[in-house]
Order: sequence, then C-alpha cells, then structure tokens
Amino acid sequence: MSESELFRPAFDGSPIGMIVLGADGALLDVNGAFARIVGRTVAALRTYRLRDLTHPDDIPRDEELRWQLDNGELPYFQAQTRLLHRNGDAVWTRMTVSPVVSEDGEQRYLAHVEDITEIRRAKDLLERRALYDHLTGLANRTLLLDRLEAALEARRTDAHTVACVFLDVDHFKVVNDSLGHESGDALLQEIARRIKGAVRPGDTVARLGGDEFVVILESIPTQAAAEAFLTVLAADIQVPFTLGGHEVVPTVSVGLALAEPEITAESLVRNADTAMYAAKQRGRARVEVFTSELRSHALNKLSIEAELRTAIREGELVVHYQPIVRLDTAEVVAYEALVRWNHPNRGLLLPDEFIEICEEANLVVPLGAFVITEACEFIAAHPEFTGRVFVNVSTRQIGSADLTRVVTAALDSTGIDPARLGLEITESGMLIATQAARSDLDGLTALGIDLIIDDFGTGYSALSSVLLNPVSGIKLAREFTLRLGDRGTGDRISTTVATLTRSLKMSGVIEGVESEAQRAIARDHGWQLGQGFLFGHARPADELDLGAVAQA
Ligand code: C2E
Ligand code: MG
Ligand code: MG
Repeated sequence: MSESELFRPAFDGSPIGMIVLGADGALLDVNGAFARIVGRTVAALRTYRLRDLTHPDDIPRDEELRWQLDNGELPYFQAQTRLLHRNGDAVWTRMTVSPVVSEDGEQRYLAHVEDITEIRRAKDLLERRALYDHLTGLANRTLLLDRLEAALEARRTDAHTVACVFLDVDHFKVVNDSLGHESGDALLQEIARRIKGAVRPGDTVARLGGDEFVVILESIPTQAAAEAFLTVLAADIQVPFTLGGHEVVPTVSVGLALAEPEITAESLVRNADTAMYAAKQRGRARVEVFTSELRSHALNKLSIEAELRTAIREGELVVHYQPIVRLDTAEVVAYEALVRWNHPNRGLLLPDEFIEICEEANLVVPLGAFVITEACEFIAAHPEFTGRVFVNVSTRQIGSADLTRVVTAALDSTGIDPARLGLEITESGMLIATQAARSDLDGLTALGIDLIIDDFGTGYSALSSVLLNPVSGIKLAREFTLRLGDRGTGDRISTTVATLTRSLKMSGVIEGVESEAQRAIARDHGWQLGQGFLFGHARPADELDLGAVAQA
C-alpha cells in the first residue's frame, strides 16, 4: 500500500474540510467535508481555484500569507477566511495551510478548513453585548465614547458642531420602587423608543445604565437648533403612558453641551451631565445648557463634599430650632430641628447649600443620626420645655439605613419619651414601597414616633403617600402659603388640605407664614398650627425661650 493509498480514506472521511492546492492555487483535490462547507460537489470543485471561492476582501491577505509561506517566512499559516457558498452566503472558516511536496516532487499546499460560522456568530453577539445596552438595544458607554470621539474628529473639517445631550428620567426611582422593577424596565424601554424615534437616523442614542440616556447630535448648525430639537424631544417623551395599570407622564431633565475646540469625548459627556444636574436642581423636566459657571459650580460641589466629611467628624454641624405655634395665640407647641453648617471660612451655611450633596455622597445617614441625637439631647437637657421636636429625615435614611435603629439608640442614650420626638419626611420618600422601607416606617410607629409629611403638595403623589403610610400629620408646603389670598388655586389648595387633615384626624401645620395677613387667611381656612418667620426664625437652643409652651 502506498502512502497515498493509506492517506486517501483519512482524507475523504475527515470531518474537517481538506483541500490540496497546486502552486497556482488550483484545487487539485478536495474532500466531502469541504464540499459541504461551500455547497458544491467534489467533482465540480476540482475545476476551481481557491480564489474563485474566496470572499474578495480576504483574497489579498491570503495571497500575502501564501507568499510568506513560499519564502520560508512562515512554516504554515492560519487565517479566518470567508468562503463563498453556492447560495451566495459567505461562510466564515478557519483555514490552516501548510506546504507539502508531492510524490513526484511538485510544490503543493495542504489546507484544513473548518466552518466557524457559529463561533463567529457567538463572538459577534458578545461584541454586541460589549457595545450595546441589553435592556434597550441602545449603544452603551463604550460605543458612545467611540462614536463621539469619531464625531469630534470629523468636526474639525465641518462647519457644523457636535452636541451632546444628557437626559435623566425624573422620579425614576419612585416608579421603580413603587411599581416594581419590571415596570421600571418597561418605562426605560419606552423612553428609549421615544428618543430613538425623535433623532435623525445617523445620530447615536446611548443608555449609560440606570435612567441616564445620552444623544449625540453629530452635525448641528447652532445651539439654537439643538435647543429646538430638544423641545420636540421633550414633548415626544412626555406623552402619557400606561405602566402596570397606572398612567404615568414621563419627564426628563436634560443637559446640553456643545463641543469646544480640543474637547475630549469624556469631557463633553461630563459637561452635558453637569448641565443635566443643573436642570434637576432647577425643578426637573427642563433643559439647561452647559456654561463655565456650571463648571465652577460643579467643582465647588466636589470641594464641599470633601469638606462635609470633615465637618461631620469635627463637629462643625449645629442644630437650630424654629418654633411651631398655635396660630391663634402664637404660643409655641413644638420646634423643628434644622441643621446648619458652621463652616470655618464661609460662615453659617443653610441646608440648601449642602443637603443635596450630602444625599448624593451618602453622607446624609451620619448627618441624620447626628441631628436626631442632638434633638433628643436638646429635649433631655431642657425639662422646662414640654413640647415636641420634629426632625427632618431624608428618604435615604429609611429602609436599608435602618432609621428605627438610629432612633432607638438616640432614645436609649437620652432616656426621653418617644412621644416627644417626631419625624418629617418629604412625601416622595413616604411613597417608597420597598419592604425594608415599609418595615422601617412601621418600626418607628411601633416606637411611638409620629411621622409627618413635609412640604405636602410638592412631591410625586400627595394623597397616596398619606393613605398608604403610617402618617399622623401634614405640613403644607410654603409655596402654597405664598399664594394665600389669591382667590384661586392657592386658597383652594390650602382650604382643601386643611379639611383633609381634619377629616383624617391628623395634625396640620402651615409652613412659611411671614405676615399677619397670611396668618389670618390660614386661620380662616381652618389651620390651627403654623410655622414661619412671623413667629420666629430657627435659633440655637441657648437663644430660645423654652419655658412658655402651650398645649397643642
Ligand atoms: P423644611 O423641612 O421644609 O424646613 C423649612 C425651611 O423653611 C427651613 O429652611 C426654614 O428656615 C424655612 N422657613 C421657615 N419659615 C419660613 C418663612 O416664613 N419664610 C421662608 N422664606 N422660609 C421659612 P432651612 O433651614 O434652610 O431648611 C431647608 C430644608 O432643608 C428643610 O426644609 C429640610 O427639607 C432640609 N433640612 C433641614 N435640616 C435637615 C436635616 O437635619 N436633615 C435633612 N435630611 N434635611 C434637613
Ligand atoms: Mg421640615
Ligand atoms: Mg417643609
């Protein structure tokens, strides 16, 4: 038996495609497996050259490799080559080619050919995963930065500019926590569809995770044109939408940043993010354009964050107390504890300048524990004061941060009666329907702590927060007090909430009373308790006249 007779059955029966090529690339021999890969017969294939079956894009590279083989630069080569199937499809193969010399001394090549279409497909899928957001199918951060970099590069030869738009869904956390993650996902998918529908076909839309989206406007003539586009986009997003049986009207806070010379993709996205943050702060559901003032504001925020950590440690925080009074007699029935920051260089800072930063930096939990302890110590240290103290708590203190434990510790260490302490929670916080939050609120109620809703009327869903949670009182937000006497919405809301409070047998406080006129109207509407500059500002404990306390 000659070598070739031995070799023959192995060649024909191999599950891997095999071909013998002549020095000119002619297919001298092929096996059945190879014939199946390209969908032709063995006989027909013997009339082909390999290049007739190779995808045109792969021919030059394969010929270069063969040249290197001939010159002894490579012992063999391996390449991913697309072959043309008879039906016209390109089939991805891995081809391993080694030189052989035939029995009669001719130069030949032996090639092993494996079909790797499936492997390629899996790889493509992985690449897709690496570049696209799986929930919405939009680009992810990697692809976004890539495209933005390319757009910025192209811009150098274009009179138009590149704009980056950062969008963040308003109150997304509330939807997610109260209606569940599936609803949250459905909302994000719908918003993704709406954004995608509003942009031009070439523009990139990305999701950065969470409820953040970014749009690149690749070639926009002016800032005004970008803003006009955003007005349309915002309107498209705000179309009502049914989610888990509830109608929601999604809104977004939007930041717009235009490319400056030499800006990098990352900085442009960061600028748009900074502008978006300003849009959130200025009341949400609006567009802000990035400016250099915003940049210094953002830097300021970073330095405040660093300083705050020290402030809490070094005892720079102080608590002031503002009276809550009977509207008829102005007698004090309670105090609201309001935190201040005694800043070493900048003087006394009010919460507006640092509470939000605290919340974002997760510092509000230690800050909250400090204020609660201070308030309890205040009560313990002043037996002549028999009223109550209300402490503001942020949503982030509830649930996973275990507010019940913090309050229990403060009560234990000071020995005060839990009925003397109350907590003010803003209503969007009260809505949080997670199990942990709910059991925390129930835990506080079991301790005998009153929970009241602060700034009633300004949050997400006012009435349900009262009905669904263990709430014993309501504070009407100052923005309604400002509108007292308007013979319109202001008056109507004030009257309605006063009536609601009474019929639910809750306590009601009207906030921000600054004038005798407001006090009179509030009393007229049925309010019994009030708070505001008319009765007193927040003051340090040692400046208060604590003996005179009325019964509420
Ligand atoms: P808030 O709980 O609604 O507190 C009432 C705010 O309105 C206080 O501002 C108070 O000084 C102010 N105010 C009271 N009466 C009047 C008035 O007649 N006119 C006007 N224009 N304003 C009045 P402040 O102390 O700057 O606090 C702002 C917000 O910061 C508070 O609003 C509360 O949400 C938050 N906050 C304060 N202390 C804490 C705290 O210890 N923890 C947390 N998480 N938040 C706090
Ligand atoms: Mg308050
Ligand atoms: Mg308030």
